Amino acid sequence: MTRFIFITGGVVSSLGKGLSAAALGALLQARGFRVRLRKFDPYINVDPGTMSPYQHGEVYVTDDGAETDLDLGHYERYTGVAARKSDSQTTGRIYSTVISRERRGEYLGATVQVIPHVTDAIKEAIQAELGGEDFVLCEIGGTVGDIEGLPFLEAIRQLGNELGRERAMFIHLTLVPYIPSAGELKSKPTQHSVKELLGLGIQPDILLCRCDREIPDSARKKIALFCNLREGRVIPALDVDTIYDVPMAYHAQGLDREVCRHFGLEAREPDLGRWQQIVERVRKPEGAVTIAVIGKYTHLPDAYKSLSEALAHGGIANNVGVKLDWLDSEIFEKDDAVSYLEGVNGILVPGGFGERGSEGKIEAARFARERKVPYFGICFGMQMAVIEAARHLAGLNGASSTEFGPCADPVIGLMTEWMKGDQLEKRKANGDLGGTMRLGAYPAKLIAGSRVAEIYGTTEISERHRHRYEVNINYKPRLEKTGMRFSGMSPDGELPEIIEFPDHPWFIGVQFHPELKSKPFEPHPLFTSFIKAAVEQSRLV
Ligand code: GLN
Repeated sequence: MTRFIFITGGVVSSLGKGLSAAALGALLQARGFRVRLRKFDPYINVDPGTMSPYQHGEVYVTDDGAETDLDLGHYERYTGVAARKSDSQTTGRIYSTVISRERRGEYLGATVQVIPHVTDAIKEAIQAELGGEDFVLCEIGGTVGDIEGLPFLEAIRQLGNELGRERAMFIHLTLVPYIPSAGELKSKPTQHSVKELLGLGIQPDILLCRCDREIPDSARKKIALFCNLREGRVIPALDVDTIYDVPMAYHAQGLDREVCRHFGLEAREPDLGRWQQIVERVRKPEGAVTIAVIGKYTHLPDAYKSLSEALAHGGIANNVGVKLDWLDSEIFEKDDAVSYLEGVNGILVPGGFGERGSEGKIEAARFARERKVPYFGICFGMQMAVIEAARHLAGLNGASSTEFGPCADPVIGLMTEWMKGDQLEKRKANGDLGGTMRLGAYPAKLIAGSRVAEIYGTTEISERHRHRYEVNINYKPRLEKTGMRFSGMSPDGELPEIIEFPDHPWFIGVQFHPELKSKPFEPHPLFTSFIKAAVEQSRLV
C-alpha cells in the first residue's frame, strides 16, 4: 500500500522544505521502506530550464532528461533514488496537460475549470508512474498563502480526503523566530500559517518548527494547543552545522516515529550508521584543500548546489575538508590570474552559458595547465579548456565557440543531430530554447588505460547532460597533436565526452555533469579523484 505524505511550508520561504522532505525520505528508507520524492512547483514555467540561476538556483537534470528544481537533487543525494521527469511538476506543466486535453476535445463540452479539471490533473500527477513504493513524499513549493499555490493545496486536500488518514498525512514546516527585544521565541507566525491552512481545509498532522535555538516545552505546548495537535507532533527542526546531520537530528526529535505512528506502522528503528559516518567525517577532517571555482554566479551558491555538494563528497571520501574559493571569472579579464590562483590546490570551471566571463575561464584553464594545478572542467569548463589548448598549443588564434558568434576556428560548435539510443535527435539553430538541449543520461565509452577509465574502474559509463554545444570532432586530430587525449566518446564515436592531458598531474574535462550523480554515501569517482589530486598538490606547495 502506497502512502502519501504532503509537505507544505509556511511563514517564509527558504526554510529548507526540500531538505526536510529529503531527510524524512532517508529516515523512512533507513526503516526499510521504499520511498519516492516528488516536487510540485506553483510557478507557470513548464520547467525551470529557461529560468535564470538568479531566479531559481541550479537546474537539476534527471536521467530521463527532465530539467527540474534543485530540491530533486537533495532527494537523490539523501535517498539514492533516481528522480524522474514525473517527479517534477509545475503549474505550467499541469496547465499544458489540461489545455492540450481541452484542444483534443477530451472534456466533452465541459467548461474547463481549476476545480475539478486542474485539481484532477494535479491528483493524477501525484499518483502517476508509481511502482509499489511504501511512501511518496510530495513537497508543495512556495509558501501557504501564495495565490498560485491554491490549486495544489486544494488538490492535496481532496486527495487526503479520498485516501483517508491511513494513506495520507500532512506535514507543515514553519518558522519559530526569536525576537531579541522580547528575549522570546514567538509562536504567532506558526499559528497564523496553520490557520491559513485550516481555512483551506487542511489540518496538519505534524508541525516541523525551524528555529535557531532549543524550543522550550512551554512553547511547544502552546503551539500544540493553538494548532490543534498533540505536543509530540510539534517537532523542533533546529539549525545544524552540516546538512547531512538533518536526518539524525529529526530522528532524535521523533519525526519518523510520529510518521509511523500516524499510519499505525510498527516499523523497526532506522539504521542511521551511514549518516553517522558521514557527519563524523565532515566534522573531523584530517586536513583541508582549497578549490577555486571559477564561474559567473559565484555570489549565489544555490546556482552550483550539486557541484558544491559533490566537492564536499570528494572531501568526505578523502577525509579532508574542502574550502571553496568562489571566483568570478571576469576578474581574470582585468587582473592577472596568478594572484588569485597561486595558493589553490585545484581549479574547477563548472557549467555555464554565454560569452560573458568566458575569457576569464579560458585564462583559468591556461593557468591550471601551465602551472600543473589539478583542473576539472565541467561542460562549459571542458569547452573552455579545449578553446585554451586550441589557441595556445595548436596555434589556432581564432579558436572559439559558436555559442559566442561566428569565429575562424569553431572548436566548439552546435550539434544539430545526434543519436539517443537508436533514435536520431534533431535541433534547429534558431529553435525553441526550452527543452532543446542534449539532456539527460547518455552512455560514453572510455579508452582503456586512460586516466578516466582508471578512475571509473570501467570503460562504459552513463552520465547526465545539459548543453547545446559540443567539441567539434573535426578538430580532434589537431587537438590530439597538442597532447590532449580524447579519452571518452559517445558510443558512435561522434561526440567527444571527455578530454584529458596525460602528462599533467590531473587535467580532465567532461561534457556532462557528474556532480548530479554524486551522493554523500557514494561520492562520484571523478570528485573523489580530483580532491585526491588536490590533496597531493597541497603536499607539494
Ligand atoms: N553553454 C554550453 C552549451 O550549451 C555549456 C552548457 C553547460 O555548461 N551546461 O553547450
